[in-house]
Amino acid sequence: MALTSRPRGTNDVIPGEIELWLELEEKIRNVCHAYGYTEIRTPMFEHTELFQRGIGDTTDIVEKEMYTFVDRGERSLTLRPEGTAPLVRAYIENNLGSGSLPVKLFYYGPMFRYERPQAGRYRQFTQFGVEALGSADPLLDVEAIALPIELYRSCGLSGFEVQLNSIGCPECRPAYREKLIEYFTPHIDSLCKSCQSRLHRNPLRLLDCKVEGCQRIIQDAPAITEFLCSDCSTHFEQVRIHLDDLNIAYKLNPRLVRGFDYYTRTVFEVVSSELGSQNAIGAGGRYDGLIEEVGGKPTPAVGYAVGVDRLLLALKSQDKLQVALKGPNLYLAHFGGDTKRKAAQIAHALRGMGLWIELDYADRSVKAQMKAANRLASQYVLVIGDEELASNEAIVRNMTDGQEQSVRLDELEQLSKILGACAK
Ligand code: AMP
Repeated sequence: MALTSRPRGTNDVIPGEIELWLELEEKIRNVCHAYGYTEIRTPMFEHTELFQRGIGDTTDIVEKEMYTFVDRGERSLTLRPEGTAPLVRAYIENNLGSGSLPVKLFYYGPMFRYERPQAGRYRQFTQFGVEALGSADPLLDVEAIALPIELYRSCGLSGFEVQLNSIGCPECRPAYREKLIEYFTPHIDSLCKSCQSRLHRNPLRLLDCKVEGCQRIIQDAPAITEFLCSDCSTHFEQVRIHLDDLNIAYKLNPRLVRGFDYYTRTVFEVVSSELGSQNAIGAGGRYDGLIEEVGGKPTPAVGYAVGVDRLLLALKSQDKLQVALKGPNLYLAHFGGDTKRKAAQIAHALRGMGLWIELDYADRSVKAQMKAANRLASQYVLVIGDEELASNEAIVRNMTDGQEQSVRLDELEQLSKILGACAK
């Protein structure tokens, strides 16, 4: 292993890329603000049991993908593979449900899954997610879809599709479970090992299997929508009515179950036509049983998670989200010695006013410094020589239009105004 290579499935976000991330993060905060979601930050690792209980121990994530370790105090901890279970834990632990409901929260940060890395699939990736806790209103299911769509739209993304399903509740699911076991049993020898072992423990998981041989069998499996109880049917109908009211197009996908056991009723996924096999740019659903499962009061909730890395890939492939890179407000060129000291003092004062000031650290010629200023796309340049030092006056030059103005060096308000105006 070379010390200079990062762990498999991880990425560096380097200058030139980070600007896109920051731009996207700003859009995320804006859309969350509009929908009244506030940010919550939870630890990067949690007790392993939270995920085993919350996500479900027959899911791919818990069976195969968690980064679990024992710390020096002999505790089993896991790097968070997703954001919902930690958020629910924090909601209960901090008694966030004691005020008016629903509580609308969002999170943003890295998640960790031991998956086979490929384009758009990483072992450390970033998710942004929204969760509304404390209401069963189908309008919140729809807002959990509308919010990320608004985000995609504000980024200029096109070519995505919302897929929708309802997977029922503990009332109506047992009958469906039985039907699935009945359907898959004659095919057992053609199923993959995971599906064989899950058939009786958690047959719904089979619908999520990506193995080609299993996919062929899944195609003709019975659809859950035929088994929904009347409450779940009504809920699903309300979701669809609200989606239509908001002109949000969707496609029903009766095989959509998602990779977590905590979902109930509505589930959804958004896929992008711009990406290859890893084409899901976000997904979510209702999880009315999770809060109780984790130890809280029975509380209905619904949420959605956006895969930020994949969203950026889709945006890049459509040439969207280009950020015009800005250069410094001012490049201060000098001749070394006392002129360098003066330049450093002026830079310090102007930086204190929030302006971006660059100067030379290698005692290069003024010609070389001018080249550097150009390379950095500095908006203004000012040269401090012995004369400027003596007179406390210098010329500031606008690099875009070539205009020059004389400014005082012992009174920086005038200079900061010129630079500040261009900063805006
Ligand atoms: P999930 O938490 O599995 O519902 O995933 C929600 C979204 O996170 C997906 O639609 C993807 O966009 C993204 N995602 C999930 N797993 C990965 C991964 N290993 N690498 C990159 N993005 C991921």
